[in-house]
Amino acid sequence: ASPTAATNASVSASDRSSVFHSWSAQGSLAPLPIAGGLGSTVWDVDGREYLDFSSQLVNVNIGHQHPRVVAAIQEQAARLTTVAPAHANETRAEAARLVLDRAPEGFSKVFFTNGGADANENAIRMARLVTGRDKVVSHYRSYHGNTGAAIVATGDWRRMPNEFARGHVHVFGPYLYRSEFWADSPEQESERALRHLERVIQSEGPDTIAAILLETIPGTAGILVPPPGYLSGARALADRYGILLILDEVMAGFARTGEWFAFDAFDVRPDLITFAKGVNSGYVPVGGVVISDPIAHHFDERVFPGGLTYSGHPLAAASVVATINAMAEEGVVENAKRIGADVLGPALRELSRHEVVGEVRGTGVFWAVELVADRDARTPLEAARMGSLKSDLLARGLLPFTAENRLHVVPPAVVTDEEARRGVAIIDEALAAL
Ligand code: PLP
Repeated sequence: ASPTAATNASVSASDRSSVFHSWSAQGSLAPLPIAGGLGSTVWDVDGREYLDFSSQLVNVNIGHQHPRVVAAIQEQAARLTTVAPAHANETRAEAARLVLDRAPEGFSKVFFTNGGADANENAIRMARLVTGRDKVVSHYRSYHGNTGAAIVATGDWRRMPNEFARGHVHVFGPYLYRSEFWADSPEQESERALRHLERVIQSEGPDTIAAILLETIPGTAGILVPPPGYLSGARALADRYGILLILDEVMAGFARTGEWFAFDAFDVRPDLITFAKGVNSGYVPVGGVVISDPIAHHFDERVFPGGLTYSGHPLAAASVVATINAMAEEGVVENAKRIGADVLGPALRELSRHEVVGEVRGTGVFWAVELVADRDARTPLEAARMGSLKSDLLARGLLPFTAENRLHVVPPAVVTDEEARRGVAIIDEALAAL
């Protein structure tokens, strides 16, 4: 329970009177007050516990309040809380080195940002400056962040009221369950999605396209694990037309899929990698762009026209160093992979017993359960029933992540076998009650 006299009701009331919330009409919000957390559990102000199967915004990969990360932030705060990006700083350089150690051969620099959106913003800017071209091709089923170019590169509804950046083109990516290509196998879906991508590139004019920007595994759009050949095919198209490939690893990176980078499980190497979220589990806001040698060298003698007051902030850098070291020493990436293969995946697939479950897909601690009103027609489950499911899961002690007609099962990468089983058992009960 809270050490102060605060209650759920008092915290809710003060929130409602003064906090303006993201992506919402403000009138009828009822945000759940969260007072604390540890590992895969959070609790509200009244002391009620929830198994955090959202990892907040799919970012608390190392779990809540990891003692080594908390201590590293405290130690750094005692030493130097802030420093301008133009100075050299030991902690920042160490954070960059640890990120680069996880990247493939041929990546030599990290540009730190405040989060994922501005990581994509700056990756797009680098691609435009290096190629001398303007356009960026991305998926309709994507989210890349809430800033100028990133929100217009985004494909989902959030782009439309914010479409003020130029040079963005969208394509449909592979999604076999709701194929745009009348495909009936993963191979066909991959081949046809690539054919569509190539036709759009040709029709837009290859010489006008700076970058193809893809989430390695589209996350918010539905955890759409790409079929074999799609990412390597996109790489081949980028090479054929002199286009750079940016892989957005903001949600998928740093243990979420059971890999350091989600693309490690695919036969593909990008030119630029963007990251945020899992790199330090959001303990301090941070993101960045991992830059391959030719792009890094392009700016050896040319000015990079971009910067941020908090680029490589020492508290963020200290939390990155501690997170990566703790993840490596505690086998967090391996835990996510094993839990996905041995516990979460098999248990979630069993939920297909329920008539409302249309498809279960994912890897590591990155799963989507797609819910349908009619299994044959694949009609998405209605918003009202999704709302009841969400309230019921909360009432049963599980904090869920829902998006449209999907339940995203995205616990921290440190989740234990017992917690994973308990979480899926709660989902099972809630689906039965639905
Ligand atoms: N890219 C992806 C794939 C994301 O999932 C997100 C956030 O959900 C972003 C970019 C934006 O990151 P941020 O909210 O840190 O700006």
